[in-house]
Amino acid sequence: MTLIGMPQIRERRTPTRTGRTYHLRTFGCQMNVHDSEGIAGLLEADGMVPATDADTADLVVFNTCCIRENADDKLYGSLGSLKRIKDERPELLIAVGGCLAQKDRNLVQDRAPWVDVVFGTHNLSRVVSLLDYAEEWGPITEILEESESVTVVPAKREVDHSAWVTIMIGCNNSCTFCIVPSVRGAEISRRPGDIVREVQDLAADGVVEVTLLGQNVNSYGRDLELGGHKALFADLLRRVGEVDGIERIRYTSPHPKDFKADVALAMAETEAVCEQLHMPLQSGSDRILSAMHRGYTAERFLAKLDLARQHLPGLAISTDIIVGFPGESEADFQATLDVVAVARFDSAFTFIYSPRPGTAAAEMVDQFVAPEVIQDRYQRLTELQTSIGLERNQELVGATVEVLVDGPSKTDPTKSSGRTRGNKLVHFPGEVAPGSLVNVRIDRAAPHFLIGDRL
Ligand code: SF4
Repeated sequence: MTLIGMPQIRERRTPTRTGRTYHLRTFGCQMNVHDSEGIAGLLEADGMVPATDADTADLVVFNTCCIRENADDKLYGSLGSLKRIKDERPELLIAVGGCLAQKDRNLVQDRAPWVDVVFGTHNLSRVVSLLDYAEEWGPITEILEESESVTVVPAKREVDHSAWVTIMIGCNNSCTFCIVPSVRGAEISRRPGDIVREVQDLAADGVVEVTLLGQNVNSYGRDLELGGHKALFADLLRRVGEVDGIERIRYTSPHPKDFKADVALAMAETEAVCEQLHMPLQSGSDRILSAMHRGYTAERFLAKLDLARQHLPGLAISTDIIVGFPGESEADFQATLDVVAVARFDSAFTFIYSPRPGTAAAEMVDQFVAPEVIQDRYQRLTELQTSIGLERNQELVGATVEVLVDGPSKTDPTKSSGRTRGNKLVHFPGEVAPGSLVNVRIDRAAPHFLIGDRL
């Protein structure tokens, strides 16, 4: 059965799957990872427990993404492998949710009729009821056209001391390489009081670090009237900063065109807000930025970084850069290198452009850049950024930094690992409980991490 935009299924409260197991696989961005925490929370509230692997689980859920390359291949390949298990164990439930499901809709069950439930980005909170329906009546696709509000479900967090907090969903921009606006819908902000209450509950549960999450956090509140004026992201930062027990506040992602002095000032004046900013550049060429619909020039982008650094000395800045956007010439690419050299980012997520079906840029086929040219540019960009990242980290050698401990180092259990307020990874000898804040003197720097000794 297929329901498109018809929320008719009754919600159920009493747990009925006690002891049954689930396996949840997440593709994609941080928003999807946080959505998966919510899906896991709902399944566990229904009595389910995590399975050790997909082969033995009673339920397999894929939370999909259509932003990353080959998302379709990954999903349909995984579903193909599950068909054999479903043939042997017809009681196995398979659910597919998230962005790719929102985009593909009926296509998921057309291509993989053994899938029991397909849900989109706007009805994640109904996953348990949809599973009930599928067990009673058979396969179902339910895709809603939009959300009426931001639904918050009890999340199962990956770590105890750190949590993601959704402050808004959707995006009103139209970057030509991005599918998000068509699968996540228009921006909807949560009311500040609801966000603060969630953060207070998290603090009471032992959380010391929160990351405020939205596709474009700097436009938070434009859809919210509060006593005759719009809600502001700067005010939200200050209010979250007043919650007792929260030592660190981060946020992602801001849009450079919407980053203004009031936010920089709120960051500087709110002790818990970390000296860290993720500011996605995407390209340093004004011509390419215009083709991307980004709404800023390289000069204005650099002016925003100056503004932020004036308010927050020692600010660590990370970015995203796309190499090989359609029509990118050598001169355009050189402009990107020039901005990277001036901006002196602490780190960068660099991506090779690949077309996403349904986006405007994917139609610019006659301007696609040759793969070997892109590869060469990508290499030159990562070499430049790696050397700048190393220099930025070397500036911290000899300094004492506060580290929030994540746990034992992944490569050496005699060491602990954690993050500075600037979000830099630090390794140091000794075992320290996750969630502790310790001071570490930095002795050595590498491009992507620091090494030191606990004081
Ligand atoms: S700001 Fe642009 S890149 Fe970010 S989610 Fe919106 S459309 Fe996509």
